[in-house]
Amino acid sequence: MNIKDNISNLIENLPAQCKLVVVSKTQTTERIKEVYDTGHRIFGENKAQELAQKYENLPKDIEWHMIGHLQTNKVKYIAPFVSLIHSVDSLKLLTEINRQGIRCSRIIPCLFQVHIASEETKFGFSMDEIMEVTQSDAIAQLSNILVTGLMGMATFTDDTSKIRSEFKALKRTFDTLKSGTLPSNIQMKELSMGMSSDYQIAIEEGSTIIRVGTAIFGERQYH
Ligand SMILES: *Cc1c(COP(=O)(O)O)cnc(C)c1O
Repeated sequence: MNIKDNISNLIENLPAQCKLVVVSKTQTTERIKEVYDTGHRIFGENKAQELAQKYENLPKDIEWHMIGHLQTNKVKYIAPFVSLIHSVDSLKLLTEINRQGIRCSRIIPCLFQVHIASEETKFGFSMDEIMEVTQSDAIAQLSNILVTGLMGMATFTDDTSKIRSEFKALKRTFDTLKSGTLPSNIQMKELSMGMSSDYQIAIEEGSTIIRVGTAIFGERQYH
C-alpha cells in the first residue's frame, strides 16, 4: 500500500466527529507533500524545532499540531503558528504558552495531557491532578490560551482490553469535567486519543482526534 491509499482508507472509515492528525515526525518534505497533495491539511510533530522547520518549508495552509513533550524554553519556536498543542503537562508550561501567546497576539489552543498508561515514562497530569488543575485560579487568569480538551496515550501493549479501559477512564474524566463548572478559557470539546496501533479502539471509546503516523507512512526511519 502506498501513502495515498493508506490515507484514503483511513479517512473513509473515520466517523464525522473525528479528526485525523497525520503524524509526520522524521518524514521528509517530499513524503509530507504526498499526503498534502491528497488534500489533507492537519499534521503533527513531536519536536518543537523540527515542527518550526517544517512550517517554514511547507505550504502555509497546513494546520500544525504539537503532540510531543514540550520544554518551556522551546515554546517560542512554535507559538506564532501552532494550531493545537496536545501535550500540556504542567501549569508552568501553560503559563509560558500564555506568555508567548501575548507576545504574538494570539490565543493558543491547547489540550491537557493526562497520564492514563501504566508505564512510568509517559508525561501528563494524573486523573486526580487534572480535576484540581482545571479549578485553579491561576489558569482562569491566563488570557492568551484556550484549553479545548484532553489528550492521552494508552499503554503500549497487545492487551486490547487494557487499552480500552484506559481510554474509557480518560473519556470518563473528560465527561466529568465537561458536565462541571470550568473557567471560560477551559472547554471540553476535543479528546485526542488513538495512534496507529489503537485508534480503532479509541474511536469506539469517544475519541475526536486520532494521531496516526506509521499506519500512513510505514515504519519510521530514525537517523
Ligand atoms: C509518534 C506519535 C504518534 C503516532 O504514532 P504511530 O504509532 O506512528 O501512529 C501519536 N502520538 C504521539 C504523541 C506520538 O509521539
